[in-house]
Order: sequence, then C-alpha cells, then structure tokens
Amino acid sequence: MSLKIWLNGALVDEADAKVSVFDHGLLYGDGVFEGIRVYDAKIFECQAHVDRLYESAKGIRLVIKMSKEELISAMEETVKANGIENGYIRLLVTRGVGTLGLNPFICKNSCVFIIADNIQLYPEELYETGMKIISAVTVRNHPLAVPPQIKSLNYLNNILAKIEALDNDVPEAIMYNHMGFVAEATGDNVFIVKKGIVYTPPVEAGSLGGITRSVVIELAKKENIEVIEKNLTRFDLYSADEFFLTGTAAEVIGIVEIDGREIGEGKPGPITKLLRKKFFDYAHS
Ligand code: PMP
Repeated sequence: MSLKIWLNGALVDEADAKVSVFDHGLLYGDGVFEGIRVYDAKIFECQAHVDRLYESAKGIRLVIKMSKEELISAMEETVKANGIENGYIRLLVTRGVGTLGLNPFICKNSCVFIIADNIQLYPEELYETGMKIISAVTVRNHPLAVPPQIKSLNYLNNILAKIEALDNDVPEAIMYNHMGFVAEATGDNVFIVKKGIVYTPPVEAGSLGGITRSVVIELAKKENIEVIEKNLTRFDLYSADEFFLTGTAAEVIGIVEIDGREIGEGKPGPITKLLRKKFFDYAHS
C-alpha cells in the first residue's frame, strides 16, 4: 500500500514525496529528526518528542517555521491518513534548499516532512531470549563536536558502530565516550541492574536524552526500584546482573551477552522483564 507523506504543508502520495538534491539535509546531513511511536492510535509522549525536536533545531540554529501545535496536528493528520493504530512516525526538519556551499543561512525555507508507517526493529523472539551485542571501537561524538543530545540527521558516527555490530553478526553495539565511559548503543540508551539497583549513564556521558529512558526511569521509581545515573565502565557492563536497552523503536530489550561475556543467567532478568511489562502497560494505558 502506498503511504501518504506529509510534506511542507500537504499530504502527498509516497511517489510524489520528493526533496531537492540541493537540500542541505541531503548534502550535509544538516537537519534534525524524531522517531515517535504510535500506540492505540495515540502519539506516544508527543509533547516530549516535539520539545526535543525544537531543542535539537535550536542547537544547530535551524528555524522551524511552524508552531509546535501545527506540527502536532500535522503528525495526527498523517497518522490518520495512513490508518496507523500501532506504528512509528519519522518527523524530519532539514535545513532546506541551498547552494553547494556549507553556508546554512542561504537556505531560506526549512523542509518538514512526516512519514507514518509500521515498524519492527528486532525480531520478536529476541525480546524473549535477549540480545547479544558487542562494544564498538568507534567513539561516540565528542560533546564539543555535534553534541550527542542533538538528534541530528548526521548519524554516520552511529552507523560506523552499527557496521561493527553487523560485521560481528549482532544487531547492536555499545558506544563509549572519549573518556572510555559508556555513552549509549547506536540507537538506544543503556541500563544495567546490579544488586537490585538500576544504573544508567548520565546524558552528559554522551547520549541522546532518550524519551523511553525517561519513561523507564519514572516507571522503575514507581516500582520502588532505585535508579542511579552514573558513569559506567565496560567492566560494569561485563559484571552486571542484568542489562537492557531502551529506545522508541527497540522499546525495552534485554541484553544477555556482550563481547562474549554472558550477563547474569544468560537470559533477560526479572527487573528487565518487569520494566518491559510496565512500559507496555503505560504505553497502552
Ligand atoms: N540514542 C540514540 C543515538 C538514538 O537515536 C535514540 C533514538 N532511536 C535513542 C538513544 C533513544 O531515544 P528515544 O527513547 O527517545 O527514542
């Protein structure tokens, strides 16, 4: 079935949803985006995603010429037009059409488009068995380069780490920061459990401020599970009782092996399973 894409103010057929080869989003990865879930025809954590998009845009001096309310209506319209009950929205704002030079201020009109589709990131059985992953050699962006908190269209750094994972026949890789502390996975945030306490690296360690991460932290606290944000080393991951990743697409997924070291009992642990269940209850509430 052909999708309806929202492009600069109107819904168009997928085949007609085209952007210019002079768009700086394409020429330079100059733009920002969001990936958002739809559960039961409702946009999940909509305000948080839109707020993050505007913050990312501000970070790269990109002006979105729409209000947050207009953007939310456009997303709702796109979800409806494609009959999405449970799916995924990709919302992009590129710098727009410019010249072949770098100067972003020549681009007068940012380009906004919204895709609403179905999604399955990892095979269903991986959520039961847990996932095996590796540590990537590729270091997460230095905070004084493109800050990792900006969800920019420039994902090459993460793609290099993803290639390392795929070369090793696993779906994900952990990225460390320039000081050797855990930053995040290529598209997900990192959590471990040790002696009943949940630990996650602070965002300043070099991760995107994940919205699933925030939801899971709140859900854990509601279950009276202590959550501590602190720098984690590779050894902390190796010696964890439980290990899981969170992200819009991945939701909550247990990790059972990293770099050939088994985690805990080699299957998703009880706190991982509990938080995964609580996440779904909350998403569908
Ligand atoms: N880190 C990176 C690099 C991401 O791209 C994402 C989103 N896929 C996340 C973390 C998780 O963030 P969220 O829960 O907001 O999707």
